[in-house]
Order: sequence, then structure tokens, then C-alpha cells
Amino acid sequence: MNLTATSVNPTNSGSSCSAELSDLQRRSPISRELALRWVGCRDEDLPQLLAAARAAKENFKPGVITYSRKVFLPLTNLCRDYCGYCTFRRDPGQPGAHTMTPEEVLAVAHAGENLGCTEALFSLGDKPELLFPEMRDTLRHLGYKSTLHYLEAMCELVLRETKLLPHPNPGLLSAEWIARLAAVSPSMGLMLETVNPALLNPGAAHDNAPDKVPAKRLRTIEEAGKQGVPFTTGLLIGIGETPEDRVDTLLAIRDLHERYGHIQEVIVQNFRAKPGIPMASAPEPSVGEMLRTVAVARLLMPKVNIQAPPNLNAPYYEDLLDAGINDWGGISPLTPDYINPEKPWPHLGKLQLRTESKGFQLRQRLPVYPEFLPALTSRPGLLADRLEIAIDNRGLARQERAA
Ligand code: SF4
Repeated sequence: MNLTATSVNPTNSGSSCSAELSDLQRRSPISRELALRWVGCRDEDLPQLLAAARAAKENFKPGVITYSRKVFLPLTNLCRDYCGYCTFRRDPGQPGAHTMTPEEVLAVAHAGENLGCTEALFSLGDKPELLFPEMRDTLRHLGYKSTLHYLEAMCELVLRETKLLPHPNPGLLSAEWIARLAAVSPSMGLMLETVNPALLNPGAAHDNAPDKVPAKRLRTIEEAGKQGVPFTTGLLIGIGETPEDRVDTLLAIRDLHERYGHIQEVIVQNFRAKPGIPMASAPEPSVGEMLRTVAVARLLMPKVNIQAPPNLNAPYYEDLLDAGINDWGGISPLTPDYINPEKPWPHLGKLQLRTESKGFQLRQRLPVYPEFLPALTSRPGLLADRLEIAIDNRGLARQERAA
């Protein structure tokens, strides 16, 4: 590991963490106090923290790292929020502002199908029609009352017409909309990002982003739990939060998972500065902060899938594997990462080689993880039929494409 690049220590207390790390069994579940110490551990303790996290990963899912072969469907990039780090969103009339037509959705989905993709990731702005009359016109023209009605129809179209399985990421959802989208997609997602409401203050990352109120996001994730919907969430580091906020965000996710058992994946995503955004000159989190956060996520939730996006962390793939991830997330052989277009996804062959160099097999999964499949396939209907076709006997993608 490049310790020069990983040496920034956010909350170095100066005291050693190694005693607690050598005695993890007795300390489970990990307390907030311990997690805080580890997220700020000294550079000399970092190898031991990573070793403990990797051992926990191997105890959970030995020998294998997964990824989801996907197409990215930016259904609309209009959004009523103005997050300081976002390059995706547009106002109507801005260059690149676009709402996909059903024909465009199907064309991308079919192209992905031909390349062995099994996930249709729908990413979109949050409730743009509430702010923009242009979006209301677009929806009226398409024949839908709201962006969520349109999303539901497009998930159903993809499910019916292709072998892809939809995974929508539409922002805050009511109980009714969680139920409606769960009927046409095996899993869905909402990044919690942070539990710190101070980021909504003027000038902060979530200034003028009404859908980023942490309590509202927690309510959506909790409602998905009450309905037993396999749910992807995670935290975004480097947007003005403290190391303590990172731990508290992970603890909030752990708490929901302990109550409902529905968190299928926790993403640890790092802010990357890009030209043209309000946070263009904000500092990025260091590799060291990223690895500490991933390792603490793994140790706090030893039986939950932990993911970190490889394209935002190149070239530190091996370090992320050392920190305890067991998944690379969605990777597309076809469509760019519209959220971080300047950071291309790694070539899958290269990712496979580097994963194997650390002693792991790389396997293709579906958007829903294997352990959540039985509850879905036992409910008769189109979704269960599509899942049965897609899975192998381990619950991974049946027809894996060579990377
Ligand atoms: S991050 Fe999401 S909610 Fe925030 S502005 Fe971008 S699209 Fe909208």
C-alpha cells in the first residue's frame, strides 16, 4: 500500500487501536466509541485495522468479490435539488438536460442485454415536476402524472421486454411508492449520505437540497425495511461531514438493518471534485480516510455487503479489497457513469485480473444479492419469473459473461 497517499489521518488521537483490534470477537457488536477510534486510527495501526476488516469479509463471503453488470439509465437529469457536488443534475433548457423516452430506455436496455448485462440501474433527479413546469409538460406528453409514475412504467417495460432486472434510485419515497416500485424491481436504493443536518445550512453541500434532510431519508429506508424490500444505501464522504458523522451514519444504517434485516448493500462513496460544481475546489477525502471508513463499515456490519466504486478510487483497487469490501458495485460495459462522467469504469478484464491478484474470484451478481432472493422468488408473478430465469444455483447471474 502507498502509505504516502494514505497517511492523512482525520482524527488521530495519538493512542494505539491495536489492542481492541486483536480482540474483536469479545467486542462484537462494535461500539460507537471503538468505531470512532478506528476511523481516526494512527497510520501505524492502519495495516492491523485493514487486516481485521479483510478477515471479517472472508468470514462473511470467502474467496469471492462480486459486481453487477449493468446499464445506466438516466431517466431524467432534471432535479429539484441543488447538491453542491452534483454534476448530474440540470435545469430545463441547460445543455444536456434530458428525459429519456421509452424508446431510448428500451434501446439501451436491449444493447446491454446483448453485452450480458443483468441490471438496469435507473438514476434520476428527485421530483423535478414539483419545481419545473417543463417537466410537467414532458410527463403530460408521455402520458404520466409524475416522474415516479413514469419510472414505474419504465421498470415494468424493462422487466417485461428484456432479461434485465430494474434497480431504481429515485430519491425519497412514500410507503405507497416503495410498494409500487417493489412490484416491478427486486431491489432499490437511496444513499443516506450523512446523518448530519448541518450540511443543509447555507453554503454547505446540501444547501437548497430539500430531499437531503437526513430524517426524511432515514424514513424512506425504514419504510423499505417494514415492507421487506432489499435496499441499497450508503454514505458519501468528503462533503463537509466529520469523521464522527461517518461513524454515526454507519451506525444509523446498522440500526435499521438490525431492526428490519433489509440492507442488502452499504456503499462507501468518496466525493471527487469536478469543474463546474459549487464544490469544485473542495478538498477530496484522502485514500487513508476512504480505507478507514470502508474498514470500519465492514467491522460494524460484518454480515452486510460492503461496496466501494472502483472508478472513484483508481488506482487503489487492491487497497479497497484489503479494507474489506466484497463488491465492486454496478459496472457497465456500455454506458458511462453519468454521475461521475470524468471517471470511467475500469475495463472488466482489468478489474478481474486485479481482483484475482488478491486471491479472489470475480463473480457477476444480479442487482439483488443472493441472500435476499428466496423471499422474492416465493411470490408468484412476473418479477419472480424473471428472477428464476436470471439466477444460478448460488443466486448469482446464471449466464455470466466473461469479463
Ligand atoms: S445528487 Fe441527486 S438529489 Fe442531489 S442534485 Fe444531484 S440528482 Fe439531485
